[in-house]
Amino acid sequence: MKIVFENLTKKFPNRNKKIKEDVIAVNNFTFEIPDGRLIGLLGPSGCGKSTALNLISGLLKPSSGKIYFGDDDVTNLPAEYRGVGLVFQNYALYPHLTVLENIRFPLENLKGRDKLSKEEMNARALEAARLVQIDGLMDRKPSEMSGGQQQRVAIARALVKTPRVLLLDEPLSNLDARLRLQTREEISRIQKQTGITTIFVTHDQEEAMSISDEIVVMKDGSVHQMGRPQEVYNNPQNLFVAKFLGTPPINVFEGRVEGGDLYIGGEAVLSVPGVEDRRVYVGIRPEGFLLREDGPLSCHLLRVEVMGRDVSIVSTHDCCQAPTVRSIISSDEEDRVTGGIVHFALKPHKVHLFDFDTEERVY
Ligand code: ADP
Ligand code: MG
Repeated sequence: MKIVFENLTKKFPNRNKKIKEDVIAVNNFTFEIPDGRLIGLLGPSGCGKSTALNLISGLLKPSSGKIYFGDDDVTNLPAEYRGVGLVFQNYALYPHLTVLENIRFPLENLKGRDKLSKEEMNARALEAARLVQIDGLMDRKPSEMSGGQQQRVAIARALVKTPRVLLLDEPLSNLDARLRLQTREEISRIQKQTGITTIFVTHDQEEAMSISDEIVVMKDGSVHQMGRPQEVYNNPQNLFVAKFLGTPPINVFEGRVEGGDLYIGGEAVLSVPGVEDRRVYVGIRPEGFLLREDGPLSCHLLRVEVMGRDVSIVSTHDCCQAPTVRSIISSDEEDRVTGGIVHFALKPHKVHLFDFDTEERVY
């Protein structure tokens, strides 16, 4: 099911009563979520991700604008008729019910034509449980299960009514690192297997990048960029997106363009033909540095961190925004690092220039 937003906006009165202006939690969303894909909705805490999900589910009414599921305008359709499955961070299972009863629960209130017999409900619940691979635990209570298993029950419960749209709000936040990794792979598998349009909300860029067909990067209620993860990583439209994606994060320097050359401090580090003279922020991905004795960018070496296949060179530079510059090189090259100053050449496609005032990309 394709989802279309048209100037969708949600405002809340400010929680701080002294501030008169409303908080714009979702600001003028106008874009389309393609059918049958896994979309990662990504952004820092408080940027409006949960509000956006709640508008899609119908738990919240927009202040203005419209939402369509396919060609149907669902803006005023109550939540229970939207065919949306929801999964939250805190599982929200009924503690006194078994796994079977928890998963079956959404089916119990079906009325009229949709009403199901107990056998039908159990069969559907078992089918959903198989999908998330907890069908061997149907008689357990939530307290007798791990966090990962509980979250699977919550996902099965969201799937049991075969929703048109599955919404997952930070579903992995309560799990430990190993389970998080495993469960995110599971979610990707379940999405592919069912083909249900799924929106996965997270503040963790790595999580979103790893499983999403497309990511939507948000800040302060607004969408900053949407696209395939690698595409957004390679072509960030502004400094915020560049800084938000990638571990280790992009290195940001203050620099300037003069006569088609990019300067960081006094050094001309890269030829940037066609870019007019201006002050810029220079974003350099950690993998964008090349160790070269005659390289134009000179940094002060702090230490070398070996990470198996790769080596991370930690250094400093006066023009860098962060206390350290992090570059990643192949471990074969490690013996070429000597103390004192390290010299780098730059891979042009790993260097992004942003206007100093607007922070929009210029190169
Ligand atoms: P996220 O899920 O990205 O962390 P939210 O959607 O929960 O962000 O919140 C977005 C903004 O809207 C925040 O500034 C938050 O304080 C505000 N907000 C969310 N819900 C309400 C509400 N019911 N009343 C007032 N402000 C709210
Ligand atoms: Mg949230």
